[in-house]
Amino acid sequence: MPYLSRIPTTQPVAFLTIDDGYLKSPEAPALLAAAGIPVTLFLTTDAIHDDEPYFARLRDRGAVIEAHTITHTELRGRSYAFQRREICGSADRLGQRYQRRPVLFRPPFGTKDATTLRAAHDCGIKAAFMWKETVHKGKVRYQEGHRVQPGDIILMHFRPAFVRDFLAALRAIHRAGLTPALLEDYVPA
Ligand SMILES: [Zn+2]
Repeated sequence: MPYLSRIPTTQPVAFLTIDDGYLKSPEAPALLAAAGIPVTLFLTTDAIHDDEPYFARLRDRGAVIEAHTITHTELRGRSYAFQRREICGSADRLGQRYQRRPVLFRPPFGTKDATTLRAAHDCGIKAAFMWKETVHKGKVRYQEGHRVQPGDIILMHFRPAFVRDFLAALRAIHRAGLTPALLEDYVPA
């Protein structure tokens, strides 16, 4: 199972991913529609259960919904059964709710062990992801250098600064001469 923070590609693309879903920013659906760019949402089912239709609206505006566990607990070091329940359970629920079962996964906090990848594989997941850049309070933080690289996966969250974070991520992508692309289209076989 690939576990990636950057997609190996020479194409001038980067990938915006948005995690969790505790806060349902009211501006997000219109912003996504206006921006017209592809995003991948790694959703925690406990985080979204109080307003699942909100994420259907985002899906209808082009967002693709992938799995990020049920309870957002750290998986590393936990039993196979525990990890499998967190991963399969979230994928099953999202598949039922949004009519497409996730094929990608991000472990909470980006921490995992070999059991995580085995459980994810057994849950029908094709690849799991970390990230190269994070965006918080309108600021992009880089793990390497000061520029988004081709294939980089950028992480932001459903937080109060959603609009600022989203626009900061897009600016950083464009400043690097890159175009946002859909992660699902670039997952290595
Ligand atoms: Zn998370």
